[in-house]
Amino acid sequence: MSAARGNAEDSSAVAVVGGGIAGLTLALALRREGVDCTVFERSPEPAGSGAGLQLAPNATRLLRRLGVADALHAVAVLPRALRLRGWDDDRPLATTALGAACLRTFGAPYYTVHRGQLHHVLREAVGAGRLRTGQRLTAWTEDEDGVCLTFASGARHRAGVMIGADGVHSVVRARMAGDTPVFSGSSVYRGLVPAERLPWAAGEPEIRVWPGPGRHLVCYPVSAGREISFTATVPAAVSGEESWTADGDPAELAAAYRGWNPAAVRLLAAAGPVRRWLLHDREILTDWVTPRVALLGDAAHPMLPFLAQGANQAVEDAVTLAVCLARTGGDDAPAALRRYRDLRLPRTALIQRGARGATRFLHRPGPAGPRASGPPPDPRGPAGLRAMSPLYGYDAEEVAEKAMREPVPWRAVSRPPVS
Ligand SMILES: Cc1cc2nc3c(=O)[nH]c(=O)nc-3n(C[C@H](O)[C@H](O)[C@H](O)COP(=O)(O)OP(=O)(O)OC[C@H]3O[C@@H](n4cnc5c(N)ncnc54)[C@H](O)[C@@H]3O)c2cc1C
Repeated sequence: MSAARGNAEDSSAVAVVGGGIAGLTLALALRREGVDCTVFERSPEPAGSGAGLQLAPNATRLLRRLGVADALHAVAVLPRALRLRGWDDDRPLATTALGAACLRTFGAPYYTVHRGQLHHVLREAVGAGRLRTGQRLTAWTEDEDGVCLTFASGARHRAGVMIGADGVHSVVRARMAGDTPVFSGSSVYRGLVPAERLPWAAGEPEIRVWPGPGRHLVCYPVSAGREISFTATVPAAVSGEESWTADGDPAELAAAYRGWNPAAVRLLAAAGPVRRWLLHDREILTDWVTPRVALLGDAAHPMLPFLAQGANQAVEDAVTLAVCLARTGGDDAPAALRRYRDLRLPRTALIQRGARGATRFLHRPGPAGPRASGPPPDPRGPAGLRAMSPLYGYDAEEVAEKAMREPVPWRAVSRPPVS
């Protein structure tokens, strides 16, 4: 693709709005394809918040091909298993092998990683030359050749296409879809604990999930094993004015998990400062492209974190979009964006719905009290790892390459069949 017409000194083929996981991965994928791009990030010092993320093989195989495998491996942890445990007695209830089993089954690792460190790895790989920080997009105009972007700083930029990778509060989506966030009825507390304070968690690395009455708790090691990250979900009411994120109150968090097993109680008591998120997603869009603008990552399909797939899907989006743009050769950017949408929208819609439904497995009904009999069903299915093939076995790059070799299907010229 070539740069759009306009001021040659400040133009690029692709302008990416948002330097989060989606935007930075797209920059890497476009560079590999030889497509010129510039990433605009509103924060002066993009950092990524201090909490954990699970990265599954559907994303790690793509990140490896983008050249960040070693840097990622150096900061990540390879958990040996995901184990469901009793909320009241910590008894193991069900186990899904990860570690070597995941590598054998899917040919790529399952990692847990500190979000800030993943962000750093991506930023280093992209390089300062392609990333402009302190640039908040405020307005844009689209014409038949491209997009003219305007930033709060007064800077302007001309691009052949603009990609809104600006997260769940996306301004690009606001204009395209005009929809509002949907509150889930839950909030999550996230925090980090130095591993030496929790010898039981630092021993064999695993993802521990305690499904409980109306809430659940997840923890796993990050930062090459030096810290334990946790996510504690609790029911919440929300008022219109309340901010989505805030400092969490450790006393409120402790009270929400009173009566839980001693390991869980110690984990929460050992945390330093905690942050609290009111969990929102949005309704599934039926379209997320115009001829010269597309959404990517959370801007396109914000999902509840209960399948741990939001960032993984952002990586899949980025690689797919880069392949679509590169294989159309820049002659027909609108067609490339439509192919990207048709490849990604049905899959991400399915996962968005799955994430909403996952509380059925994670939250047991009824108030905290005597445990109901029997273990809860394993959200990853009785067949364990193999049952995760549709998610973890998916190779977004292979799918996109194959689609771009085939003739344009009728769907690519109309809206995708998603209800
Ligand atoms: C509690 C919790 C746990 C999670 N756990 C997991 C997990 O285990 N695994 C997983 O895969 N996912 C997980 N996720 C989801 C994951 O964090 C997101 O899906 C992912 O970070 C989305 O990346 P993104 O780049 O699309 O958006 P973001 O990370 O939000 O990045 C958007 C970027 O755009 C910038 N921006 C915004 N507006 C503008 C503007 N106007 N101009 C310029 N820049 C702008 C922002 O500053 C930001 O840097 C979790 C989410 C939560 C809340």
